[in-house]
Parts: sequence; structure tokens; C-alpha cells
Amino acid sequence: MTATAQPPTDPPANAVGAPRAVPLGAAAIVARVATLRAAATSGHARPLAWRRAQLRALVAMLRDHEAELADALRSDLGKPVTEGYLTDVAFVVDEVRSMLSNLGRWNREVRVPTPLILQPSRSRLVPEPLGMVLVIAPWNYPVQLLLVPAAGAIAAGNTVMLKPSELASATSALLARLVPQYLDQAAVGIVEGGPAETTVLLEQRWDHIFFTGNATVARVVMTAAAKHLTPVTLELGGKSPAVVDASADVRLAARRIAWGKWLNAGQTCVAPDYVLVHRSIRDAFVEEVRRAVVGFYGPDPQRSDAYGRIIDDRHVQRLLDLLSGGTVVVGGECDPADRYLAPTVLVDVDPDSALMQDEIFGPLLPVLDVDCIDEAIATIGAKPKPLALYVFARDVAVQRAVIERTSAGGVTVNGTIVHLLNPRLPFGGVGDSGMGAYHGEAGVRVFQHRKPVLSRLGRLDPSIAYPPYGRLKSAVLRRLF
Ligand code: NAD
Repeated sequence: MTATAQPPTDPPANAVGAPRAVPLGAAAIVARVATLRAAATSGHARPLAWRRAQLRALVAMLRDHEAELADALRSDLGKPVTEGYLTDVAFVVDEVRSMLSNLGRWNREVRVPTPLILQPSRSRLVPEPLGMVLVIAPWNYPVQLLLVPAAGAIAAGNTVMLKPSELASATSALLARLVPQYLDQAAVGIVEGGPAETTVLLEQRWDHIFFTGNATVARVVMTAAAKHLTPVTLELGGKSPAVVDASADVRLAARRIAWGKWLNAGQTCVAPDYVLVHRSIRDAFVEEVRRAVVGFYGPDPQRSDAYGRIIDDRHVQRLLDLLSGGTVVVGGECDPADRYLAPTVLVDVDPDSALMQDEIFGPLLPVLDVDCIDEAIATIGAKPKPLALYVFARDVAVQRAVIERTSAGGVTVNGTIVHLLNPRLPFGGVGDSGMGAYHGEAGVRVFQHRKPVLSRLGRLDPSIAYPPYGRLKSAVLRRLF
């Protein structure tokens, strides 16, 4: 967790809704929340035409400012332009387009059958927005992880407050400037800042809080939400394992693990955290990973424009400290002034070291060898439930054993990360890796209450339904139920 939050102080002139270069004070934050609450109460965000206009404006914002977004992502994370485009811009546009195409269907009331005993009646599920939503985002995919949940909240008819991460400061500042230009400020707000500003936001009453980040802050969020009985979605992380069975295609496994690991320099919640590889193929696997690194980033990844940077100096130091948990066989080079840490593979890993106890969230890949799939399954089962799990095997029985005997938020078989690209697969954690899910339809449903409504039809009103329940009525009712 970050340092204890001090209440933010109000600068003298706080124009509510205006983008600012200085952090907002508590009173200004509360005023912004009040604006959103008033809009939620008046149903401002409910008309489908309003939602459609906001979603289109969101796409326009991303399209019009693609170059500026690329610059901001580069400044925050050294994000390669294509990587930033695919993971932070195109991904959001894709999700929003799918919301636009399905807006009517996902917000339509649905008739459901009514049992005979309740006839004549009609039963329906009537979707309604929850009201006012708070989205708190982390720094690693600072556009996607803020705007995809926000778009879902809008598509479901809510007002929404966005809280980008202060660590991705360039992206946060850019979004704080653009969001009020493109979106309706009466119903969509943005507050920049860190723990102090987030604390003020968390003190307010929300109808849903959607948090993405680490488990320590998640506890702060859930505690604050409990005061108002506010439901939460928690998108967290954990140590996502990759299992490489003896039956796997070693080169393919190495390339796909390398891609998933070193995307965004390993700062991806679903990055393979560590590898459990069958002893018989460990050396071949490490060799193929080495080859993949050179193939992707050249002999010196620091000079590659396809390789990112660590978010800040504190995280560089944290990652350097983890290196003592094993023997470096690939990479290991670091240039703290450039926030550069090479794609790094470690073997002979100490299972009790921080490297194997904490989520790495950086470009270090510990490779542990196992004698059999049961040992891999036991190793995974001894740790908290991960956000993702990857199994590489041509043997279908091995794939099935790993899927059935382990628990994880989601799984890709013979690949990494890509299960979250299918909008028909809800994305979220289980146990320590989070609660709730989104993406595709799930990303709109999470911000909706599907209100059950039963309408009784006609005037038929048999007295059997009413007391007193004599012997005959009781006997009939007992037969019916
Ligand atoms: P972070 O430091 O940016 O924190 C997330 C948010 O919490 C920020 O907006 C920050 O301002 C706020 N915050 C921080 N400290 C706070 C406090 N004391 N009180 C109130 N608010 C506070 O991001 P992070 O947590 O370092 O992100 C990394 C973690 O997020 C990893 O565990 C990663 O796996 C996880 N993650 C999960 C997903 C997912 O989709 N499941 C995606 C990305 C990251």
C-alpha cells in the first residue's frame, strides 16, 4: 500500500468540472460527486440516445488523440507505439463498438416463463442502472483499465467518476484534459490524484465501485464500501503460473510465454509470473526463451523500440531486490536512470524467496523444474488462486487435469493472455485474484440490476390463496407446492 492518505487541501478557486493542472481539494471532489449524484437521481444518463452519444464520443476522443495518447504512454511506461495502440486504444475502441452494437439487446427487458401456479401472470427481468459508479484504475494499462469499465457503466445508464492512477501521470493528465472535452460533464467526471484524493472519493456513497489494482488497496476499498453497503468489483493480480508439460511444443511454448511475459515489460496483471517446466525439457525451454528474446528485441533490448520501461524508480529497486531469489541465466542487466530492466530468466529458484512469494509484476521470469504434472498442480494449489493460468501440452489429458484440478480467474491453453481478448469470456479473478468480472456483455451487466417484475393479469382471485387455511385448502396447497 502507498503511504497514509492525508486529506487534500482546497486551492482557492475550484471551478467544478474544469480540467486542472493542480490536484483538486476535498471540497471540489465532493462537489463533483454531488453533480454526478444529481444526474443519477434525475435519470440524466438513462436515455439510450445519451448513452450512445457518450460511447461514440469516447471512441472519437481516442481516435482524435491517438498520437498524444501514444506519447503519454511512452512517457509513463516507455510503451512501444504499436503495443500501446493495441492494448490501450484499440482494445477500448473494440469493447465500446461492441457495446454500441449490443446496446439495445443488453438493456432490453427479457420475458421469462411463469409457473402454472402463478397464472395468469407475466414475468420479466427489467434492467436498471445501479446509479453512480466509481472506477479506480492502476497505472499499467492506464487507458484501457480506466475506460473499459467506464464505458460499461455508461452503457448500462450510470453516471461515472473516473480515478486514473497518479503513477501514470502523463496519461492521467491527458485524460483529465480530454474527458471533460468529449463527455458530458454532468454525468461523467474525472478526479486525478493518489491515495488522498481516492480516500475522499471512497468516503462518498457510490452505487458500485470498480477497482483494479493490488490486494492491499483492495482491502481499503472494500472497507470503505462496506460503510455504505456498496457492491464492489475487485480486479486484482497474483502469481499466474505457466505449466509446460513434457508433451508441449517447446519452441511454441517458449515464444508464447516470452511474448506474454515481456509485453509492457512484464507489468501485466495476467503475465505468466513463473514457469513450471518438466525437468526433461527445462534446458531446451530456457534456450528457446533466450532465442525468443533475441528474436523479439534484438541482442540489446534496451535499444529496441519494442520493449517498455518500468513505471518508476521504486519499482525498479523492488524488482532488483527480487533477483537474489535465483540464478540469472538470461538478461539481468539494469539501467536505473532509464528505468530499464532486461528480459530476465532465473533458474535454481528458492521457493521461499520473495521472487516466488510475491507477484513479480516486472520482467523477471523464474523457471522451476518439476518431475510430473501432479507436482505442478500441487505447487499451484499451495499458493493463493491466481488471476490466470497457462498450460502448454499436446497431451489433452494433461490439459484437462490442470484445468480441473487447479483454480484460476481464467485459462489459456497453449498460449498466454489471449483468453481475455475474447469478449464472450468474462474476465476477472477468483479468491485472492479478485471478485466479479467484465468484458463484453459481462462488462455492462456488472453495472446493471436486472429487476425481477411479476405482473398478475386478469381478475381471477381464488380464495384458496388466502387464509384461513382449513384442512381442505391445506391439502390442496400441499399438492400444488
Ligand atoms: P496503483 O498503485 O496505480 O493503485 C491502483 C489505484 O489505487 C490507483 O488509482 C491509486 O491511486 C489508488 N490507491 C493507491 N493507494 C491507495 C490508498 N492507500 N487508498 C486509496 N487508493 C489508493 O496500482 P497497483 O495496485 O500497484 O497495480 C498493480 C496491481 O494491480 C497488481 O497486483 C496487478 O496484478 C493488478 N492489476 C490487475 C488487473 C486486472 O485486470 N485484474 C489489471 C492491472 C493490474
